[in-house]
Amino acid sequence: MRKKRYLDALRARLDQSIELAVTDQLTGLFNRRYMSRHLSTLVGNAGTTGKPVSFLILDIDYFKSVNDTYGHDIGDEVLREFSNRISANIRGVDLACRFGGEEFVVVMPDTDLSFAYMVAERLRQSVADTPFQIGVDPGRLAVTISIGVTASEGAGDTADALLRRADQALYRAKREGRNRVVADAA
Ligand code: GH3
Ligand code: MG
Ligand code: MG
Repeated sequence: MRKKRYLDALRARLDQSIELAVTDQLTGLFNRRYMSRHLSTLVGNAGTTGKPVSFLILDIDYFKSVNDTYGHDIGDEVLREFSNRISANIRGVDLACRFGGEEFVVVMPDTDLSFAYMVAERLRQSVADTPFQIGVDPGRLAVTISIGVTASEGAGDTADALLRRADQALYRAKREGRNRVVADAA
């Protein structure tokens, strides 16, 4: 009995450290390291099976001013609520990750560009249409996001190239006025 308890405790601690290694502490989403590790595999699989993998980069618009106006803790609240809205709008097979700061990534296996665009647009709306609850006056905050979308294209494509294309699309979304989705049409 004592041995079982000991083993259970050991197992719980192991599970916890594995979880720490792959998840972002603030949001509970996967972290960048986990995402980077899996992206290459997913892009490789897509090249082999011919089923594209799609990739979204999401970035909160003018997030610096949220911190400047309400403080860093409220900024963190906004990041957590944003991660909840991401999770609510994707499938179980999709991978959501906090890529760094106020930038998030969603990887969708077996998903083409037009479906990915639709998901991105739904996400954009789920943020823009409903203000975020914040724990200071005035209690609500209007938030918008910009999203860059791309999909893998055949066996020669790489994780790096996918990242670069999604990033370029995001940059265009920002330049064209924010609160929008731009798809990379290669
Ligand atoms: P843009 O519309 O061009 O994206 O403007 P922006 O203000 O969102 O972009 P910028 O990259 O200038 O600012 C990002 C801010 O995100 C700056 C930094 O203080 C904040 N930030 C990064 N990580 C965290 C975090 O973990 N918590 C909080 N509260 N803020 C963070
Ligand atoms: Mg931003
Ligand atoms: Mg940013």
